Amino acid sequence: MLDFDHAQTLLANAAGPLQRRDDIPLNDAAGRVLATDLEATVDIPPADNSAMDGYALRVADWQAGARLPIQQRCYAGDVPEPLKPGHAIRLFTGSLIPDGADTVVMQEDTVEADNQVEITRQPAPNQHIRRRGEDTLTGAPLLAAGTLLQAAHVALLASQGLASVPVLGQLRVGILTTGDELVPPGTPRAPEQIYNSNGPMLAALVRGLGALPVHVLHARDTEADLLAAFKTLLADCDLVLSVGGVSVGERDLVKPALATLGGELSLWKVRMKPGKPVALAKIGGTPVVSLPGNPVSAYAVFAMLVSPLVRRMQGRETIFPPVSLLPLRTERPRQDGREEFLRVQCRTAEHGGSELVPYGHQGSGVISSMPWATGLARLPADVLVNDQDRVPYYDLRHWLA
Ligand code: AMP
Ligand code: MG
Repeated sequence: MLDFDHAQTLLANAAGPLQRRDDIPLNDAAGRVLATDLEATVDIPPADNSAMDGYALRVADWQAGARLPIQQRCYAGDVPEPLKPGHAIRLFTGSLIPDGADTVVMQEDTVEADNQVEITRQPAPNQHIRRRGEDTLTGAPLLAAGTLLQAAHVALLASQGLASVPVLGQLRVGILTTGDELVPPGTPRAPEQIYNSNGPMLAALVRGLGALPVHVLHARDTEADLLAAFKTLLADCDLVLSVGGVSVGERDLVKPALATLGGELSLWKVRMKPGKPVALAKIGGTPVVSLPGNPVSAYAVFAMLVSPLVRRMQGRETIFPPVSLLPLRTERPRQDGREEFLRVQCRTAEHGGSELVPYGHQGSGVISSMPWATGLARLPADVLVNDQDRVPYYDLRHWLA
């Protein structure tokens, strides 16, 4: 049996980042991975401007009770006149600071009448002015290659005037489900059959990571069916995921099919629960990962073992999302010979911190535990875990993103 951490590292390194590049419109960039380091080409803000609705003046022109004539009303987007001595210029948030002005007084500290303004509180120099470049200076590093672009990054790039952005190609993933007992949702089902959960689930998992599920195929448990499906997927995809048929039963034909296609299997039984049988093959440079058939096992193995490989191939900076240590609530001490990944909810405990509450029925066929769980709690192999012991928590918001 292969140790879990070893399996995770092996899989994460099974392939390198995609070499394909795209240049895409900024409006389509969310979820894509930046292909190159970017530097600022514009100072942000590009010019000194007002942080408030108010008045620009010279501090030296202020006197208690005095009124300053209003020289100009300068809206955001207008060009200010140079400030005349003894005057004020009406400004709004984002208005440029007039030459000669050395402070902005907010509207709340003023009284305006007859095109004159009285400043009711003594101003300090430089107040309420956003200085050119105080946010970002030209030439400063902006974003690193490998950044997963989200709304915040898009805003930053837009502020630099970029209309398009260089990203890595979208990872193309092929999905293959196997099993004579399965029928697709939406079709009649005989009593001995079950609906195929893993196909739609894996497509959703792949999309959740920002990759593209190019095909979702199903093969019966025959070598011919498996071979045909694998060939289609290998022709079109960067990464192939198969599910089921990978144990040691006589209908478990995935391994021989991969061998027929010339793949070398590099890992097999992983010491983890759920999800022991996992296989990795490389066929013509394309990684093929075979997951266990039970939906819960496939889900856990995808999150723990496959998602790092997907992130690696996508060229992302973060391959392994953060893991936190949190107390586990358990009515009985727990121990297992394999690393156990419990489906848990992370909840606010009575003392105010977080605690992990396991789903009651942890069987690897219990699909209802999946939407319930917010993450997986990792219980080390051969260690007795007691109530409130701290264990690693894999938050699926991070591990499936
Ligand atoms: P296998 O690894 O093919 O022996 O499958 C293990 C268990 O998972 C069996 O109970 C299968 O019926 C079930 N299973 C396999 N694939 C799927 C699927 N795509 N959807 C739902 N259950 C599945
Ligand atoms: Mg099967």
